[in-house]
Amino acid sequence: MPKDTILILDDERFFCNLLQSILENKYHIIITNNKKDAIDALNSHRVDLMLLDIIMPKTDGYQVCKEIKQTEQLSHIPIIFLTVKNEVEDELKGFNVGAVDYITKPISPPIVSARVATHLALAKATKELQQHTVKLEQMVSQRTVELTREIAEKQKVYEKLHYLANYDQLTLLPNRNLFNERLAYAYKLAKRNKSSFSLLIIDLDRFKVVNDSLGHHIGDLLLEQVGQRLSNCLRGVDTIARLGGDEFTVTLTELHEKQDASIVANKIISEISQAFEIHGQIIHIGCSIGITSFPDDGDNLADMLKNADMAMYEVKRGHKNDYAFFSPEMNTHANYRMELEKDLYLALAANELYLHYQPIIDLPNRKICTVEALLRWKHPKHGQVAPDKIISIAEESDLILTLGEWILEQSCKQLSLWHSQGHTDLRIAINMSTRQFDSKFNSSTLLKNLISKYNIPKNYIHLEITESLMLEDSKYILDTLSELKAIGVLLVVDDFGTGYSSLSYLRKFPIDILKIDQSFVRNFNLGSGDDILIKAIIAMGQSLNLAIIAEGVENGEQLSFLSEQHCDQIQGYYFSKPVAADEISLLLNDTLNF
Ligand code: C2E
Ligand code: MG
Ligand code: MG
Repeated sequence: MPKDTILILDDERFFCNLLQSILENKYHIIITNNKKDAIDALNSHRVDLMLLDIIMPKTDGYQVCKEIKQTEQLSHIPIIFLTVKNEVEDELKGFNVGAVDYITKPISPPIVSARVATHLALAKATKELQQHTVKLEQMVSQRTVELTREIAEKQKVYEKLHYLANYDQLTLLPNRNLFNERLAYAYKLAKRNKSSFSLLIIDLDRFKVVNDSLGHHIGDLLLEQVGQRLSNCLRGVDTIARLGGDEFTVTLTELHEKQDASIVANKIISEISQAFEIHGQIIHIGCSIGITSFPDDGDNLADMLKNADMAMYEVKRGHKNDYAFFSPEMNTHANYRMELEKDLYLALAANELYLHYQPIIDLPNRKICTVEALLRWKHPKHGQVAPDKIISIAEESDLILTLGEWILEQSCKQLSLWHSQGHTDLRIAINMSTRQFDSKFNSSTLLKNLISKYNIPKNYIHLEITESLMLEDSKYILDTLSELKAIGVLLVVDDFGTGYSSLSYLRKFPIDILKIDQSFVRNFNLGSGDDILIKAIIAMGQSLNLAIIAEGVENGEQLSFLSEQHCDQIQGYYFSKPVAADEISLLLNDTLNF
């Protein structure tokens, strides 16, 4: 360790020597006797402490001390006065100009030695403290910078999490979470201001078909575009959200009257009905909208959501692509449906379900060629439930799959029984729900097993399907229908003519028979022009090599007309209503008289 350096400024040579003899063992000593030399020494050496005389010729020790203390790079050097001036005022003056100590002559060597050592240690400690403070300040400011950055990062993460928790990643619309929050707010506000607001639940029609047939990627892009179109239909005060899947919702506040919600609903329907173009594909969908209003339709949020849902399902069950306001009857209706749904699960096991059969007559031979199996349910409390209602309830869950399987098995079993009774020409027509063509049902394998189990000849089972099934234009459905054809099942388009304008599916799908919808046949004798339609359908069927069945034949006039047009087969109350299997056996044994 280098020795500390002590600068002495004193004009008395003897005194300087004395100080040197006291201190030189421990310190490096520089002796000066005038101000100029002393300042030069201070500037050219690293001086750790200065011993300063006060009374010197041409030099005032106080003045020297003051100047050193005013010089920035020297001000830290501790200065000790060594003087003969022993008045209290002199000493005070010495401290005032910045000295750290004041020793009067004659001096005591050990005291000088001790004070020098103390002040050097003190100076060192002060210096270290200063350095430490500087370091600390640097660390604090560095940490402050880091903390500011960390807080900014955390804020970003928080914002991202908040976004993920509240927004739908696909459409960038608020999700169910945020929607619930905003709905609760709208509700509170409306309650406090005694104002009203409406809630719309929007469910896309045919979205599943697009998703299944064109793939999820296209489905996602479609949802994105739907989100944009919906946003364009709304005002700034309205809230739109995606609840999940193909379900969206809109909250409309500040409406003059609740009927005004229909203006928005119409706008949405018209926007969504416009064709979408995605990767060059033109896609047509629609939407079903349920509307409920606060406070008219219930004064709590859970009820509002339930009501809007109920109104939306009402539209779904009807013609779709429309809107409906919630009405209290829907509640009764929904409760009834829920009761039926619950009971339907048990009905199969309780033997409440059974099939009736309606004969279909081959016109040229005037013989029953086929019977159509029609579902019946005698509900213990509500009596007969219409089959289309049973089917639509079952279609809302996977119950349709169990029920569909039961209907197929019953029909095949019954047909094989008739065959065993000698009615070997008889065929059976079975109605199929579109849901039975979901991939999880696997109808072709099921039918293949039934055909072999009941030993049914080729082409003796007719499956009645709807036009809407083929309009779904899915590869899976086309493949399933082709497989069914291959295992010897004939395909009938039921209720033909009521569905859609495009007939190209008739060439694409392996259809065998068209069943003209009964509404044409029934209205025929009113002279409504349906006769022209029937003629056209029969002519088209003949040219496409398809057999034609007319259903809903109720009188002789209709029969004559259909015979004249060379309609292949007829079905209707004119011959028989749907009846139990035993009665069919009797009818099969009778000769038909008409
Ligand atoms: P659908 O397949 O078009 O069946 C014909 C419906 O017309 C039957 O009504 C039948 O009773 C009725 N009908 C037959 N001839 C006449 C007539 O001359 N005049 C009048 N007014 N009606 C006639 P039903 O049995 O009430 O069935 C209604 C619909 O329910 C069926 O229409 C079919 O879509 C569905 N359905 C019935 N059974 C089943 C089934 O087992 N499975 C499936 N998926 N759907 C079924
Ligand atoms: Mg049918
Ligand atoms: Mg029909």
